[in-house]
Amino acid sequence: MNLSRRGFFKLTGATFAAGALAEVFGPANALAAESVPELRIQGATESPTICCYCSVGCGGICSVIDGELVNLEGDPDHPINRGSLCSKGSAQFNIRNVYDPETGKLILNPARQTKVKYRAPGAAEWEEKDWDWAITEIAKRIKATRDATYETTDENGVTVNRTEAIGNLGGAALDDEECYLIQKLARAIGVTYIEHQARI
Ligand code: SF4
Repeated sequence: MNLSRRGFFKLTGATFAAGALAEVFGPANALAAESVPELRIQGATESPTICCYCSVGCGGICSVIDGELVNLEGDPDHPINRGSLCSKGSAQFNIRNVYDPETGKLILNPARQTKVKYRAPGAAEWEEKDWDWAITEIAKRIKATRDATYETTDENGVTVNRTEAIGNLGGAALDDEECYLIQKLARAIGVTYIEHQARI
């Protein structure tokens, strides 16, 4: 038998453990212990994360092996959720990975969008664009809309300095600092309609 050093230790370790368990609990329990699969987070690097779905902000732990996410679960040390996650939070792992219905193997989620998609007014098809194009285009359109609709006073002559043609909708994936900056920008350019997805 061609057995590596690592394989030898695994085999002898497993045999010893099975033997010891058989001694203490009997052969049936030892057999059950032998068939327990290795933990999928064994040897993984853990990083804390925040759930992307709502403003409760539950904490999670991402387990990564060789650059691949192998598990995502609630963080027991997080003060908000103390390890628990709701059904949406529990399904976060499947944003990136899903099980192939044909093979049962873990694969990258084919439905996940990782590129900018743009559908021009009146067009039926989506085009792939890069981020530089998208950010420049968004900035250009915000500026044009603001310039065309900005009002310094209302119908009663009261100073308002606003545009009512732009709305700002925040998302739960934004952290405090990002929200602070986005609010600053929105108010600085005169946006008054500022909302958050979690209140809708
Ligand atoms: S969606 Fe669920 S798990 Fe995620 S932050 Fe909200 S309550 Fe927590």
